[in-house]
Amino acid sequence: MICPGCLHHRNQAYCTKCRKELFDGKNVSPYLSFNSPSKEDTDVYRDHTKKISISGVQLKYSLTLKGTELQLTETKGQYILKPIPVGTFHHLDQAPANEHLTMQIARQLFKLTIPPNAVIFFNDGSPAYLVRRFDQSPDGKVQQEDFAQIAQMTSETHGKNYKYDLSYEEIAALIIRYIPTHRIEMEKFFRLIVFNYVFSNGDAHLKNFSAIQSAQGDYLLSPAYDLLCTRLHSPRESDMALTLFKDGFSKTYEAYGFYTYQDFYAFGKRVGIKASRIEKIMKDFTEINASVHLLIDQSFLKEELKAVYREHYHDKVKRLRMMP
Ligand SMILES: [Zn+2]
Repeated sequence: MICPGCLHHRNQAYCTKCRKELFDGKNVSPYLSFNSPSKEDTDVYRDHTKKISISGVQLKYSLTLKGTELQLTETKGQYILKPIPVGTFHHLDQAPANEHLTMQIARQLFKLTIPPNAVIFFNDGSPAYLVRRFDQSPDGKVQQEDFAQIAQMTSETHGKNYKYDLSYEEIAALIIRYIPTHRIEMEKFFRLIVFNYVFSNGDAHLKNFSAIQSAQGDYLLSPAYDLLCTRLHSPRESDMALTLFKDGFSKTYEAYGFYTYQDFYAFGKRVGIKASRIEKIMKDFTEINASVHLLIDQSFLKEELKAVYREHYHDKVKRLRMMP
């Protein structure tokens, strides 16, 4: 049996480790007691989702754990539930499996800070992505600001595409300005940028990075969220949501039409990371990692998309291995 949390063979639905991380050890079923929003026409959603937020085409619901049962809630949700999105993108029924797989790869294999997450099924069998919220503490909501808020950019000030209006280099400048421990946080940011490239997450815009207040009161980079191989759903999308540099492209980029190792190396230097650290971080991404294949194989993606996911991964690693 594959655990719908960590995607490894275990002898329980959610394995002991996943139960502990996700549900404080409680024996929660991988099936919710209610149907997906598309199948449910009772009052369940109307009564409990007055505060749903709509971001793009993705509806998000808030859940709380009562005993061993996950229930929809309006307030103090401990979890976010993302069902199959609605829209015109390709293979949207595979989006929960895609996000779960990508988050697990990031968490287990690339040392990124990722909140506990899993695939869970509605009563009618359709899948959803479940993630534990990191912006809640026992005393209430933790202060969190995304980088559009930090940069004070909104649709009013910067137009409809404001989320795409800075470069990653400019986000790095904001990290230096607002995060006291930016030397440590910058390496995390760098790792995440390279990860997004290698796993074809082409929608990592300003609002998909946040700073969060620590228990000590200062700000840190928040755990990563909304990571998925967007290429599965939007094949013509550009490689990255934002450009690396605020001022144009390198000669190698001009020659190939995409970023290679040199670009990320130059980016790392520009944002103040030591050469030896850049090389060390990049090393994790320039070799094909067999464990990535294992997780893809054991994921909830359908076979044809596992192959496409693998292909994109190989393609990006190959790009990082190209020498000018
Ligand atoms: Zn597990």
